[in-house]
Amino acid sequence: MTVSPALTDVLDRIAQAAKASGRTDADVTLVAVSKQQTWERVAPILGAGQAVFGENRVQEAMERWSERRSKVELRLIGPLQTNKAREAVAFFDVIETLDREKLAGVLAEEIQKQGKAPRLYVQVNTGEEEQKAGAIPSEADAFIAACRQTYGLNVEGLMCIPPAAEPPGPHFALLAKIAARNGVEKLSMGMSDDFETAIRFGATSVRVGSALFGAR
Ligand SMILES: *Cc1c(COP(=O)(O)O)cnc(C)c1O
Repeated sequence: MTVSPALTDVLDRIAQAAKASGRTDADVTLVAVSKQQTWERVAPILGAGQAVFGENRVQEAMERWSERRSKVELRLIGPLQTNKAREAVAFFDVIETLDREKLAGVLAEEIQKQGKAPRLYVQVNTGEEEQKAGAIPSEADAFIAACRQTYGLNVEGLMCIPPAAEPPGPHFALLAKIAARNGVEKLSMGMSDDFETAIRFGATSVRVGSALFGAR
């Protein structure tokens, strides 16, 4: 194993932020977002022991990780089209972008067929931005209930991407509140610029790209 200064720095900051909110670094998973990065940048982070990676495209993830699949946990953090659901269920450990009933139905079918279930996060569009995926907050409770009851899916967590131009804290707080009232345990929130804030609001995983690999 080699040392990566960028990885060490991010892990230190996660540990500090977790400690400051009465938790430990074991309570927060670092998801290294390797999308659009060259392998030359990804290899040192993998070589330094990082084992959880996030990708936003099914095809790109399969090309990059198929050969190394057994070494890592892979999370899909980008929008999922229903026609890619079969591959996504087969390939990913976690899908963080469950955001609509049609997708819930197709995922349920694939899980049944393949006898294999990725862990699932419901994406919530906390800022109600038109260009962004995710259930809007006022419909999140009903959507989570439908995932569970209508489609028999186990919702492990919630995920959000706050609007770029707003302070993220209120969005993280809102996601935590929706999770608590629905009995959902995990919170995927926080990126390079705001992961410490997200941890303060209860993030159990943070998705960090550029702070680890450099600008895309
Ligand atoms: C790209 C991306 C990230 C990582 O963003 P950085 O600012 O580079 O840390 C996190 N989450 C999602 C959903 C992304 O698409």
